[in-house]
Amino acid sequence: MDSSVPTHSLLTHLECSRTGESYDADIPQNLSRAGAPLLARYDLAKVSLTPAGLAAGPANLWRYAQVLPVRDPALVVALGEGWTPLLPVERLRAKLRFPRLTLKNEAANPTGSFKDRGMAVAVARAYELGSRELAVGTAGNAGSSLAAYASAYGLPAHVAMPDDTPRAFVAECRAFGADLALVPGLITDANAHVQQGIRNHGWFDMATLREPYRIEGKKTLGYELFEQFGGVLPDVIVYPTGGGTGLIGMWKAFDEMEQLGWIDSRRPRMISVQSAGCAPIVRAFENGEDHAEMWQDAATMASGLRVPRAIGDFLILDAVRKSSGTAIAVTEQAIRAAWSELAAHTGVFAAPEGAATLAALHELVASGRVDRDERIVLFNTGTGLKYLEAWFDEGTE
Ligand SMILES: *Cc1c(COP(=O)(O)O)cnc(C)c1O
Repeated sequence: MDSSVPTHSLLTHLECSRTGESYDADIPQNLSRAGAPLLARYDLAKVSLTPAGLAAGPANLWRYAQVLPVRDPALVVALGEGWTPLLPVERLRAKLRFPRLTLKNEAANPTGSFKDRGMAVAVARAYELGSRELAVGTAGNAGSSLAAYASAYGLPAHVAMPDDTPRAFVAECRAFGADLALVPGLITDANAHVQQGIRNHGWFDMATLREPYRIEGKKTLGYELFEQFGGVLPDVIVYPTGGGTGLIGMWKAFDEMEQLGWIDSRRPRMISVQSAGCAPIVRAFENGEDHAEMWQDAATMASGLRVPRAIGDFLILDAVRKSSGTAIAVTEQAIRAAWSELAAHTGVFAAPEGAATLAALHELVASGRVDRDERIVLFNTGTGLKYLEAWFDEGTE
């Protein structure tokens, strides 16, 4: 129980992201009949939250409870998700000569990654709607996060991940008491593995965008940036993209905030960053396509980016294009160099996914796609401490 959760959800219904068809939000739902993600809709006209009033809310993502789906605040078990620091990274600013560069440090979440935002909300809502066995195929962090919240709520969790996922994720899932399967292949194979349990045992599918509420947790990133920039949005957001939930979520938050009258129609340029070893979104962006084809032989030390096919591909590409942003692939060597550079100049030992955003910034500078006086946010999506094999692997000192 968390008595500091202040207000009630204004959730009205779910809407198919492809057809706009409405769905009942008060029963467990996965994909729409069109096979597309369902998006939560709220009665925004009734929102009493104001930018000024937000300051009095709890120091976690439940400060946005009116635009989150959990109806009964009393059932929420908060572990400290969200409301992470936006760091001014002074030494990195000076080195790169970007005086308004910032780092959003999502490593400060309960299990050390921003997956906690999504799972905090999705597990609470699954619990509220009576789902009792939760399952996810994962590249690592989502499994740890589901296992953590399932343990906090006392629900069984079934997690499948590639058998070469960094050891820390395996240890964490087992410690939290999850039923863990290590499967050969990639996250797509892990997802296929949990589908069996979903069909045969009625487990509830918690895979990203296959249930409607992880994105609701992730969208709080957008609300937080608005608050942390003093009631405006930054100019550029550099985001490491796997399934794209965070990017799609922020984009959704910006729309909601415009409807609330908090912002106008201007948007940050959304920069989607992937590894050259797995860059389906970048390829689709460059080819002018609306959907991204499956990436063959995906390989990157940034395991959260090793997502060869994303169910929300069309939503990512749409947000990137509408924002006048771009999509950039960075090499593994560039990620490694940026990993050291970021750590040595900020005091943040980032996940390699986070380091990829700094590698991308170098490319954006080289190609003249950012200006020095712009407010740029690099996203460090997780802690580097879970990727020690990759760190030691190639002898980075
Ligand atoms: C999952 C993950 C990503 C990718 O996030 P999406 O929202 O799925 O694109 C990036 N970094 C880390 C550390 C992750 O765990």
